Amino acid sequence: MGTVHIVGAGLAGLSAAVRLTEAGRRVILYESAPQAGGRCRSFYDATLDRVVDNGSHLALSGNRSLLGYLERVGASEALSELRPAAFPFLDLGSGERWCLRPGGLWLFDKARRVPGSRPADYLAALRTLTARPEAAVADALPPDGALYERLWRPLAVSVMNGAPERVSARLFGAVLRETLLRGEAACRPLFAEKGLSAALVDPAVAWLMRHGADLRTGTRVDGLERAGDRVAALSVDGERIPLGSEDTVVLAVPAWIAGRLLPDVLPVPPAAGRAIVNAHFRLPAPIDLPGGLPFLGLVGGTADWLFRRGDVLSVTVSDADALAGQPAETVAATLWRDVAKALGTAGTAPPPHRIVKERRATPDQSPVHAANRPGARTELENLVLAGDWTNMGLPATLEGAVRSGEFAARAVLTARITTFSRLGLFPAFTLPRRGPI
Ligand SMILES: Cc1cc2nc3c(=O)[nH]c(=O)nc-3n(C[C@H](O)[C@H](O)[C@H](O)COP(=O)(O)OP(=O)(O)OC[C@H]3O[C@@H](n4cnc5c(N)ncnc54)[C@H](O)[C@@H]3O)c2cc1C
Repeated sequence: MGTVHIVGAGLAGLSAAVRLTEAGRRVILYESAPQAGGRCRSFYDATLDRVVDNGSHLALSGNRSLLGYLERVGASEALSELRPAAFPFLDLGSGERWCLRPGGLWLFDKARRVPGSRPADYLAALRTLTARPEAAVADALPPDGALYERLWRPLAVSVMNGAPERVSARLFGAVLRETLLRGEAACRPLFAEKGLSAALVDPAVAWLMRHGADLRTGTRVDGLERAGDRVAALSVDGERIPLGSEDTVVLAVPAWIAGRLLPDVLPVPPAAGRAIVNAHFRLPAPIDLPGGLPFLGLVGGTADWLFRRGDVLSVTVSDADALAGQPAETVAATLWRDVAKALGTAGTAPPPHRIVKERRATPDQSPVHAANRPGARTELENLVLAGDWTNMGLPATLEGAVRSGEFAARAVLTARITTFSRLGLFPAFTLPRRGPI
């Protein structure tokens, strides 16, 4: 059995590495950054004297691949679950507050649904499940009424990082199918209270180290050398590393880098999507948010979500290209205005803060790009793809990234069977080349 060379130690690469190591394969992970985690990571900020995340991430209890990954690496307790599921909101324009509490007969209880919505309005969600591939969220869900402005739009923007008019209805429907439509137990919010790296990255890295995998941080793969229908060598920081005849490569880098490394295998590089901006404010003391929960959804302002972690209050804005183009101080002032309004302290100056602009937060998730995502297998027999932009059936999320890593691992582990069946030795095992793998 050859070595599996995994390029990129974000959640997709880590998830593939865990599965392959578990299956007894020798794994080398190359990561260009000094730390694993990719777009899901924590760092120490000296201004705040706190560890903060590159951006607050919300997962849901229906994210079975993410939870399975954590269980495998012995970190089942890493995320804290809000039980029963609840999503508090505040309209900054009208001052109205509500809390969405899915589960049971919630739609028939006015206090648990969006004010101004009727139970029948929610049935529109089903249309996203059967939407045409070219449909955007706004084509499937009627862009009018209270439910659209107070639920579908904020949900589409935060889950898909794009306006409902631009992002794929099918991908959005896939999230609803695995969470909201499965009832309360599948939509409990999950938080990384000690930070993203501590919850989702460090336990996997420690597990991989304990099980003999080789993680090389600060190591960039800058080229893949092709010979016929195989990858023959990697260029690692300019040095040629020849691959053995049984070696495989899992490319788990962001879409825009994969396109650069593989111009002839992926001739149209998937585009980067919109920015996500986060502001972390260090408060004089921990506070309670309106609604009494660790997070709060906002509509009618610039800020989308507030997350409270100790004395740090973090603000997230998705689909934020315009905001990301402004100087950090302007961003801080704009977002603090929304925070202060929500907290009833309007007119106060922003406390110490750190602004993080992730300009390439997710790949483009328009219907066209969603319909053209590549599966894990490629035309090269020892090259497999992973990442939140590949065809794993979900939007670019933690769950999507982890699941793509699982598909990639499965493609590696079944490659020998495919090779044998191509030679006519195992005709019964021929695998279809359609779908995610
Ligand atoms: C600010 C922000 C907020 C988000 N919020 C949420 C949320 O609330 N919920 C949610 O589910 N998802 C959220 N996401 C999306 C989620 O973080 C991503 O979908 C997921 O982390 C992508 O993982 P990945 O492994 O596919 O890619 P990446 O995390 O990008 O990993 C790819 C890795 O490859 C490395 N690499 C690149 N080039 C090379 C090279 N040449 N050689 C070696 N290594 C290389 C990179 O350094 C990186 O570590 C958010 C993303 C951002 C940025």
